[in-house]
Amino acid sequence: MYIRLSREDGDKKESESISNQRNILQRYIKENKLNFIKEYVDDGVSGTTFDRPGFKEMIQDIEDQNINMVITKDLSRLGRDYIKTGFYIEDYFPKNNIRYVAITDGIDTYFDSTNNDITPFKAIMNDMYAKDISKKIRSVYKEKQKQGEYLCSTAAYGYKKHPSIKNKLVVDNKVKSVIEKIFDMYSNGHGSSEIVNYLNNNKYLSPLGYRKTGIVQDENKTGYNWNEVTLCNMLKNEVYIGNTVQNKNSVISYKVKKVINVEKKEQIRVDNTHEAIIDKDVFGKVQCILEKRGTNTKLKYDYLLRGLLYCYHCKRKLQIVFKKNSKRSSKAYLYITCSNSKARRCYPLNINYEKFEKYIIYIVKKICRKYADKEIFTSVYEKNKNKTLDIIERHKIKIEHIDKEIFEINNNLDKMYMDKLKGVLQEQDYIRVSRKV
Ligand SMILES: [Zn+2]
Repeated sequence: MYIRLSREDGDKKESESISNQRNILQRYIKENKLNFIKEYVDDGVSGTTFDRPGFKEMIQDIEDQNINMVITKDLSRLGRDYIKTGFYIEDYFPKNNIRYVAITDGIDTYFDSTNNDITPFKAIMNDMYAKDISKKIRSVYKEKQKQGEYLCSTAAYGYKKHPSIKNKLVVDNKVKSVIEKIFDMYSNGHGSSEIVNYLNNNKYLSPLGYRKTGIVQDENKTGYNWNEVTLCNMLKNEVYIGNTVQNKNSVISYKVKKVINVEKKEQIRVDNTHEAIIDKDVFGKVQCILEKRGTNTKLKYDYLLRGLLYCYHCKRKLQIVFKKNSKRSSKAYLYITCSNSKARRCYPLNINYEKFEKYIIYIVKKICRKYADKEIFTSVYEKNKNKTLDIIERHKIKIEHIDKEIFEINNNLDKMYMDKLKGVLQEQDYIRVSRKV
């Protein structure tokens, strides 16, 4: 039995409830005198992904041949992504000799029926439903953000969630002074590493540490150290002047859950949604200093040759790192080294990056100059012109040939498919022959 419930089910939640699904499945098993092995449940996991713990457990049992049948209440319980759902029903289950039943959709792969034939269309409908719901949920979410409701699951360090009003922030007096100290130090010229040291030396727990333990300062603290990335993000966070900025990042779509950054103008900013801890002038001053100094959260520029250098010896990508060339000197230089050398599996190289880059540019310029000379260029061009034309012509003929082949293969497939539909060709023969093609 496979059971799934998620927020896409919205107001249908009652009829889709875990216990309701379970009842239907148990009744079906009893009525059909099936041998019940195991129940797999995914509570609160969307049907657009197949990365679900219960589902994975079931696949493992299929791989281990512990089960030979899968039952769900309906097709959408299995999944709402029609490509992947189709893969399981039409490819994976048959290959693993799994009989699949979706009770209320009347799908049963054990029998050949018209219900099974329209399965792909049902899968598409389920997919569209998920897309629609995802849109609706997102727009409700955005609307709330526009109203200045604070929708993050945890409040920023310095604040806590209002005890009775939903999605509202109140000042956390336990750590308010820490925030004030940080902004005070930074606006008075202390650098971020100095502030990080101050906080760690005075045994303040990092925001994460505070969130987990509820302790602000601990003489015997181990771990939960502050770092400059956290600090710089705090210094930039408008939450401390009473504004709520949300929608800072987003997922690509309801199917592709990769998180991307949202451009500043697309972010949702509402002023004065809660009590400020930091004065707007102080905050403004801090932003100016941050901009001048450049923050530690991002690299200011990329090296010209980053990612383009490979080790001659071990063929790995080379690293570009800052290194002091002696203990006494304070200035650090950029060096190219082989990352394999740390484990003593390759040579350390230690090539001065700046000199190397200059040399590469010199070589590239030399080559360019050679061909920029019109006479040399023309002679090289003339010499190779006919050769090039030949190659193009040969490729053209090849492409035409391949196109023709593809056309014929498709044609045959179409014919075979029609034969199968008409019943001229048996299912097994169809599969056998189409594999050959
Ligand atoms: Zn190497």
